[in-house]
Amino acid sequence: MKVLKFGGTSVGSVENMRAVMQLITDGNQKLVVLSAMSGTTNSLVEIANYLQKKNKDAARQVISQLEQKYYKVVNDLYATPEKKEKGKAIVSGIFQTIKSLTSGDFSEVTENTIVAQGEVLSTAMFTELMLENGYKALYLPALDFMKIDADKAADLYFIRENVAKVLEASEPADYYITQGFICRNANGDIDNLQRGGSDYTATLIGAAIDSEEVEIWTDIDGFHNNDPRYVENTKKIDQLSFDEAAELAYFGAKILHPQTVLPAKLQNIPVRLKNTMNPSDPGTLIASESSGHGIKAVAAKDGITAIKIRSYRMLNAYGFLKNVFEIFEFFKTPIDMISTSEVSVSLTIDNVKHLNEIVSELKEYGEVEVESDLTIACIVGEMIAEESGFAAKVFNALKEIPIRMISYGGSHHNISVLVKTELKKQTLQALSNNLLNN
Ligand code: ADP
Ligand code: ASP
Ligand code: MG
Repeated sequence: MKVLKFGGTSVGSVENMRAVMQLITDGNQKLVVLSAMSGTTNSLVEIANYLQKKNKDAARQVISQLEQKYYKVVNDLYATPEKKEKGKAIVSGIFQTIKSLTSGDFSEVTENTIVAQGEVLSTAMFTELMLENGYKALYLPALDFMKIDADKAADLYFIRENVAKVLEASEPADYYITQGFICRNANGDIDNLQRGGSDYTATLIGAAIDSEEVEIWTDIDGFHNNDPRYVENTKKIDQLSFDEAAELAYFGAKILHPQTVLPAKLQNIPVRLKNTMNPSDPGTLIASESSGHGIKAVAAKDGITAIKIRSYRMLNAYGFLKNVFEIFEFFKTPIDMISTSEVSVSLTIDNVKHLNEIVSELKEYGEVEVESDLTIACIVGEMIAEESGFAAKVFNALKEIPIRMISYGGSHHNISVLVKTELKKQTLQALSNNLLNN
């Protein structure tokens, strides 16, 4: 069974939901993962933020605006008065849940429960649309099988066991509809796979049910060779290897949640990126084979902090790197880029939750400098670091831009440069002009 995921814009209006229904109803059984309607998760995050700041009036105002918007959607979405009533009842029930969370103490569970309601709304409404139109659709609650562990990593073993159980226990259907993004955590509370996480839900379920293909339907015709939000004249890529796509997603290509590729790669399940507004376009195929040699694309990841540690011992400082890395391991903080000399090391992190503790422990071993508001621009392709003259091309492309750090040759697929975030657009455009469009 294929897994098809539709993103926020794809289900972002009544017309688009109808288009998705047309698109999926080809008679082949499938499992459909939906995001919240576009804008909804942002509003829910806003509500949670107001509640955290104890500004209940502001929270209630956003809730009421959002609720009215959904009444309008259900009124337009269904044809019959019965279904319009049913839609209203769904919306009213979910908003009752949200409103009940405005009284009482605010906690992470409150926040996660509120933020989860966008996907619950879209899937419940969409299932009713399918039923109204005579299709055999079934609503599957993702909270019955999607789970993360105490380290917030997806628990693929649990997901595999439980999605099978849920499917076995449910009425047979042609179209199973479930929520992206949301899951339970190790405490059994509602949690999520982080913003944009519906893509990850799709490949996790795909891997769990040994799907033949996962399709990720969005608002663009596939993976582009640069970020179309910052760079002009980007081009669609027909095919990427799992490794190339994983690096691009990890280093900021917003079209895929950073972890989406991993479950697909583990089980060798092809992932196809498709455009809901242009379904006949073949999109981008992500599979085990690469589509050949050379540079494929550039992506950029913001919110990077660089830490430079200069050892107090100038010579024979063996053990220095081990001591440094152990501190990051202890605070469960992954390192992205790294550059070393005998007595100093520079590295980057994107999770600054424990930055203060990390810095104070690092000071035991050396002088520490911290720089924030940085961006990693990542150039991805096949065997690019091995090509002669390639370093010269990259440096030439970036000759106007001060590079803070560079990582070259650590991977066959990736060359990364660290720049100030204020230079991101210029960096991406320069790489595009010099490396991609000639
Ligand atoms: P969805 O809501 O369907 O998950 P997203 O907004 O998360 O959609 O992802 C699609 C968007 O990602 C595109 O509209 C585009 O602006 C942006 N994007 C960033 N980098 C790329 C890229 N390399 N290729 C294609 N789209 C990209
Ligand atoms: N609705 C969630 C978000 O906006 C998840 C997703 O769209 O993938 O982040
Ligand atoms: Mg997305």
